[in-house]
Amino acid sequence: MEISRSTPLTQLPGVGEVRAKKLEKLGLTAAGDLLAWYPRDYEDRRRIYNIAQAPTEGRVCITAMAAEHPRLSRIRKGLELVQVKVADHTGALHLTFFNQSYVERAIRAGEEYIFYGAVEVQGRRRTMVNPIFERAEKQTFTGCIMPVYRLTAGISNHLLAALARQVLPCAHELPETLPQHIRQNHHLAAAEFAVKNIHFPADEQALELARRRLAFEELFYLAAGLCLLKQRREKLGGGITFPLQAKEEFLALLPFTPTAAQSRVMDETAADMTSGRIMNRLVQGDVGSGKTAVAAYAGWLCAKGGFQSALMAPTEVLAEQHFRSLSQLLAPAGVRVGLLTGSMRTAEKQKVRAALAAGDIDFVVGTHALISEGVTFHALALIVADEQHRFGVAQRAALAAKSGQNVSPHVLVMSATPIPRTLALIIYGDLDVSVIDQLPPGRTPIATYVVREDKRQRMYNFVRRQVAEGRQAYIICPAVEDNPDAALPGEESPALNLKAVKTYAETLQKEIFPDLRLGILHGKMRPREKEAAMSAFSSGETQVLVATTVVEVGVDVPNASLIIVENADRFGLSQLHQLRGRVGRGQHQSHCVLITSTRSLEAMERLHTLASTTDGFKISEEDLKARGPGDFFGNRQHGLPQMKLADLAGDMRLLTQAQQAARALLEEDPQLVRPENRPVWERVCQLFSDTPDIFN
Ligand code: ADP
Ligand code: MG
Repeated sequence: MEISRSTPLTQLPGVGEVRAKKLEKLGLTAAGDLLAWYPRDYEDRRRIYNIAQAPTEGRVCITAMAAEHPRLSRIRKGLELVQVKVADHTGALHLTFFNQSYVERAIRAGEEYIFYGAVEVQGRRRTMVNPIFERAEKQTFTGCIMPVYRLTAGISNHLLAALARQVLPCAHELPETLPQHIRQNHHLAAAEFAVKNIHFPADEQALELARRRLAFEELFYLAAGLCLLKQRREKLGGGITFPLQAKEEFLALLPFTPTAAQSRVMDETAADMTSGRIMNRLVQGDVGSGKTAVAAYAGWLCAKGGFQSALMAPTEVLAEQHFRSLSQLLAPAGVRVGLLTGSMRTAEKQKVRAALAAGDIDFVVGTHALISEGVTFHALALIVADEQHRFGVAQRAALAAKSGQNVSPHVLVMSATPIPRTLALIIYGDLDVSVIDQLPPGRTPIATYVVREDKRQRMYNFVRRQVAEGRQAYIICPAVEDNPDAALPGEESPALNLKAVKTYAETLQKEIFPDLRLGILHGKMRPREKEAAMSAFSSGETQVLVATTVVEVGVDVPNASLIIVENADRFGLSQLHQLRGRVGRGQHQSHCVLITSTRSLEAMERLHTLASTTDGFKISEEDLKARGPGDFFGNRQHGLPQMKLADLAGDMRLLTQAQQAARALLEEDPQLVRPENRPVWERVCQLFSDTPDIFN
C-alpha cells in the first residue's frame, strides 16, 4: 500500500476501531500526525550481548537460540505463565512470560531470536521476565536506537513505533518550510532527513542533526510570531494619555502607607500612562510585596481620566477577592468596580456586559471570560493581568485587540514568579520591568518546618493552638478525591497515600477537630460553592480551610497564620513558595508546615531548601535545576505555544540564532508576503493557532 501523509491510520494493519479511538486521543488520525509525533526519549538497543557477558543493569539485547519448546502453565484464573530456556555458546537464560500465552506458539525450539529485557541473576541462574523478542533475521525493534513515545492507555510504545516505521516513507512529501538560505547559514538538515532520524536515528550524530533542525524550526517560528506581534503593536502608535493626578489623593484611600518600592513602581506606572506611549509594563514582586495596590492606582488613574480598566485574574477565587478589596478601596473615590466571571448567571453577566458597553463600570475584575466572551467596552484604556505566568504574550495580544477604541490599551502585567533571565527574554522581551523589591514593614518572616508522619499529632495540636489564639489555618492537599488508580507519571504503583480534600476534611472534622469549623475548597466545586467557601474563610467563620492549590495564587486572608501542605514532596518549590505566601500577610507570626513521607533524599533536600530561604529568585532557580522549565511553568502557563522538541530554558544558543534569523527575515519581508516566505507565515499561524485572530 502506498502511504501518504493524509492516509488515515485506520488503513494501517493493526489499527482497528478501538485503537483508532485511542490514537485519536493523542491527536493522531492520519499518517502525517504520526510523523510529527516526535519521540520523547530513546533506548539504545544497538549493542547485542551474549548471555554470559550481558550486564545485569538496565535492559539489554541478547541473541540466543530457543533450547526447548516453551511450556505454558495456568497458575490460576487470570495468571498464565510461559517458560522457556534459551542458550548461546556462553550459557543459558531462563525466560518467563506472564499472561502472554501466544508466546508458546511464537517461539520455536531451535530457532534464533533477539531478546530485549533486563537480565537478573538468581543464584547460578540467569533469568529475564517478559522480554521483547524478534526473529534474528527479522530485526526491527532490536539492534537499533529505539524511539520512546508519549503514550495513552491501550497504546503501547511498540505499537506506536511499528506505526511510525510504516508511515516513515511518506516523510519525503514533507514540504521544506525553512527558507533555503537560513538552512544553509545555520547548517540545518533537510526536513525529510530530520523527521526520519528523529524517529529512527541511524546513529547519535544523525539524531543530533535531526533534533537541531527540528528544534531550530520551532524556535524560529516562535520568534517570527513574537516579532510579528511586536511589529503590529508598534504600528498601533501612541496610547491614551492621562492627565497627571495628585497621587496623594489615591494614597489617602489606602489603609496603609506604601513602601518605598511600591511608591516607586506607582510612579513608573503613572509616568507611562501620562507619557503618550502605550504602557507595556511588568511589575515583578515576590508574594506579599503588595502588587495589588499598584494595580489599584493604575485603575484609579484611568477612571479619573474618564476611561475604563480591566483586571484579569487567573482564577475565579482570586477575581472575586480582587473585586471585594478593590470595591472597598475605590468606591469612596467614586470608582465603580464590577465583576465578570465565566460562571456568573447569564442574566447577571448580561447586566455587567451592558454596563461595560455603556460605560457604567469603570474598573472590571474578571477571569479570562473577559477576553473569551465577546465583551464590548465603552472606552477601555488599561488592562491589568495579575499573575502573569499564567497569562502570556499571545493572550495579551488578543486583549490588545479588544479595546473598543481605535487605540491600544495600556497593559500592566503583575507576577510573583521570578523567572530565569533566559526565559524572560522570550516571554517578557517586549515589556518594561518594574520590581517591588521590598516587603511591607512589620512582617515577621514565616517559619517553615519540614516534618514527617511521626509529628502529625503535634502538628494537629499546633493547628488547635493557633485557632485558639483566634488565627486561621489552611491545609493543602494534592488531590480532590481519593483515587487509588491514579498513578503519577513514572510511577508503577498507584499513589495510594495522597491526601484528598474531600475524604481528609471529613476525617479531620470527625476524628481530629470535631469542635472546629472546617471548610473545603477545590477546583471541582461549583463557582457559587467556591465563592461561599472563600468568603466564609475570609470572614473568619471557617477556622480551617482544607483546600487544593486553588488557593495557590493571590488569595489574601491576613488573619490566616498557618499553612500545612500535605504530601509536600509532590509540589514544585515555586509552587510551595506561592502557597506559603498565603500566610504572613498580617502582623501575626506565621508558620508553614511541609509534611511528607517521602523516602527520596533529593526531595527532602528540596524541601529543606525552601525552609531555609524566602528568596523567590533563589527558589525558582533551584526549581529550574531540579525539575526543568516545563514543570517550572506548569502546564503551558507561560502562554507560549507548546514546543515539542526545543527546550526554552536549555537551548539558549539555538534560540538566539533562531531569533536572529527570524528578525532578519522579517526585516526583508515584514508581512511575509513573498511567495517563498508563505510557508513560514503558515507555520507561524499554525503554531499560534490556540490563540486565533492574533495575526489579523
Ligand atoms: P501580592 O499581590 O504582591 O502578593 P498583595 O497586594 O495581595 O500582595 O498584598 C499583600 C497584603 O499586604 C495585603 O493584605 C495588603 O493589604 C498588604 N499590604 C500591601 N502593601 C502594604 C503596605 N505598604 N503596608 C502594609 N500592608 C500592605
Ligand atoms: Mg497578588
